[in-house]
Amino acid sequence: MGTSKGIDNQDMTWINRFASLGSVFATEVLPTPVPAPYWVAQNQTLLKACGLPQSWLNTDEALSVFSGNGLWEGMAPRATVYSGHQFGHWAGQLGDGRALSLGEFETNQGSFEIQLKGAGKTPFSRMGDGRAVLRSSIREYLCSEAMAGLGIPTTRALCLTGSTLPVLRESLETAAIVTRVAPSFIRFGHFEHFANQSSDPGALKLLADFVLEHHFEGHEASLGNPYADLLHEVSLKTAQLVAQWQAVGFCHGVLNTDNMSMLGLTLDYGPFQFLDGFNPHHICNHSDHQGRYAYDKQAQIAYWNLFCLGQALMPLIDDQALAMNALEPYKGAYTAHWTHNFSMKLGLSQTHEEDPQAHMALIQELMQLLASERTDFSLFWRRLSHAALQSQQAHPAWQAVKDMFIDIGKFQTWQDRYMAQIQAQEDDAALQRMLAVNPKYVLRNHLVELAIQKSKQGDHSEVDTLFKLLQSPFDEQPEFEAYADLPPAWASDIEISCSS
Ligand code: AMP
Ligand code: MG
Repeated sequence: MGTSKGIDNQDMTWINRFASLGSVFATEVLPTPVPAPYWVAQNQTLLKACGLPQSWLNTDEALSVFSGNGLWEGMAPRATVYSGHQFGHWAGQLGDGRALSLGEFETNQGSFEIQLKGAGKTPFSRMGDGRAVLRSSIREYLCSEAMAGLGIPTTRALCLTGSTLPVLRESLETAAIVTRVAPSFIRFGHFEHFANQSSDPGALKLLADFVLEHHFEGHEASLGNPYADLLHEVSLKTAQLVAQWQAVGFCHGVLNTDNMSMLGLTLDYGPFQFLDGFNPHHICNHSDHQGRYAYDKQAQIAYWNLFCLGQALMPLIDDQALAMNALEPYKGAYTAHWTHNFSMKLGLSQTHEEDPQAHMALIQELMQLLASERTDFSLFWRRLSHAALQSQQAHPAWQAVKDMFIDIGKFQTWQDRYMAQIQAQEDDAALQRMLAVNPKYVLRNHLVELAIQKSKQGDHSEVDTLFKLLQSPFDEQPEFEAYADLPPAWASDIEISCSS
């Protein structure tokens, strides 16, 4: 089947603002068709939220479109060019090597861009085949929706299709295509690209003005230079994002500057992982030999990446001190968000009378204890949420927390101080809120691994189950109790690399 334009007119209002910036930024490329496409998953919730027509996900025609075998009227597939720093080194031009934007459309929630990931080669594919495999596509589909369920800014996933097309990675796998949705997929790397493009000095300003106009409308103009303000805003959004990752034990795995969203969204799901046992130095990416992107490095690396963005914006900011003024608030903002998030996780009152130093000490001491015992991160916080409302140390809910520690004495010392603190604050609402910030269900590696194995056999039911479960990660879902258990022993043997 060939790629044909205009299968049907879906009565959409396409705005394609980024594409209208010109061919310097985005090149027209048609998706490359795949054989025997099939549905793996459809996100009806997102479809409705975006106000998209039902027919987008329930017809053969839709399957054609979302597997790259056809286009609807108005869709204008394009690949964008960006560059970036990978693992700390300048990598030069990268670009959408396997992603194609189908266009931007207007909804009552704002405008969104829609992208196929894995739809074939583009001028930016370099040595790559332009494809993504089913394994990594299931990971991206589920994790982006899991993050949304957790209330963490992220690109979203509208649907997932597969094909019999063989794709060679370490072994032979098959192709899949994730349809991603976000207000914009613009990355730090887009700016780095045009900052390094001496042949077209105006492009950087055009891009920055575009992002300011469409994505930072009404932003606070505090630094007297709009591009310094942009850097400042992105720094603050990034600080908030990374602090949210830390609070749920999320490791991104490949925090290269080309995977950093200008909008502060979690972007490009690869070898990510939600921590099982708490190891602050955990490296989830098997290809990250230096541990550059370890869990406890993420905040620092995000700052390093912001610094690269700052350098890229220098021709527009034109004042070193001003650029540093724009970046500097990142550190304070990150610490404030981190402290707030972990205080919430502990049910500590957020009123101004509380002593932040006392909170911090309690949190730090706990983190050290969790690290030394490699206590399961998600399970600990969830059990603590149930226990915190019980004033009796002998209560079974407290016993369930205690059972997670070998050095009971150390835990007890911390527990005494913690209980004294929460009893003194007399803020039951803060304790009740713990269940709304400490998720019961996270997309642990072994859960997604099981879903992948089933899907590879043609049974996509587990993808569906995880999808439903992770839409409400804070709710008790008794039928899915087993999904909140400790990981099985084999989970620690799972090795996730950049290969996708
Ligand atoms: P990632 O590590 O997925 O963030 O990708 C880094 C860069 O490599 C981006 O420019 C991607 O578009 C490109 N890339 C990754 N995998 C492929 C592939 N299979 N074919 C073409 N380009 C790819
Ligand atoms: Mg990427």
